[in-house]
Amino acid sequence: MQKAKNNGFVLETEDLYKELGVGEVAVQALRGVSMQVQRGEVLGIIGPSGSGKSTLLGLIGGLDSPTTGRVYIDGIDITDMNERQLTRVRNEKIGFVFQTFNLIPTLTAQENVALPIQFSRNRKNNPKKRAAELLDMLGLGDRMKHRPTQLSGGQQQRVAIARALANDPSLLLADEATGNLDTASSDVVMKALWDVKKNLGTTVIIVTHDMDVASQTDRIITLIDGRVAGEDDPRTTAQLRAVETLKNKRSTGEMPRVRS
Ligand code: ADP
Ligand code: MG
Repeated sequence: MQKAKNNGFVLETEDLYKELGVGEVAVQALRGVSMQVQRGEVLGIIGPSGSGKSTLLGLIGGLDSPTTGRVYIDGIDITDMNERQLTRVRNEKIGFVFQTFNLIPTLTAQENVALPIQFSRNRKNNPKKRAAELLDMLGLGDRMKHRPTQLSGGQQQRVAIARALANDPSLLLADEATGNLDTASSDVVMKALWDVKKNLGTTVIIVTHDMDVASQTDRIITLIDGRVAGEDDPRTTAQLRAVETLKNKRSTGEMPRVRS
């Protein structure tokens, strides 16, 4: 039985440290990251390249274990779980979206989304039906029978988001999900992530180094050198100022709004 915390947070991390590599090339990728995320939040994690963003997301999603520290998902401590238990947490509680879409080229959009439901141990949904609902919600109702090569980048990423949602996860984790997209497609994907929160109540964590993307979240955590940076750090201050400027441009209509 895993230790449980009844604090209502969908995610909590306690003092996470992660050392990567061994011996002389060892890197302290994370140096004491503590954070709490409420259900239904759209959280942005920003920071320079190499600051530990992907490492943190990997620990949150149970892809890897911390050197020290703890990770709680829905109040359940996943830190000491074995690989079989972690696989189950990943399948049932976490959805991942990456920079590359990783869709199966021989399958249609609908078949790609249905696949994780077919492989799920306690199947909650009818695979084809749920896939159609999710694609419809993300504006791809008329693209279900298309294969990935017949879709644009923004459309493929929305299929990948639908696939990540197939088993109704508590947390959707997006690592540079707009990194391969132009501005217009990036806005379409951000709108899709907001539709996910609005329609399903899913908590969304978006890792990005794009200030424009970051300006479209509820809250931002900045990582610098593996730590949550204080706002007095000049790099954090500059980033937050950039985000603020973009938020203002959206509110005055100078830039299009993605939230509806
Ligand atoms: P970010 O996603 O913010 O760019 P990462 O989490 O990928 O940063 O990396 C954090 C630090 O850990 C970097 O210094 C990176 O070079 C290092 N790192 C990442 N993966 C490995 C690995 N497998 N072995 C050794 N060092 C790594
Ligand atoms: Mg990264």
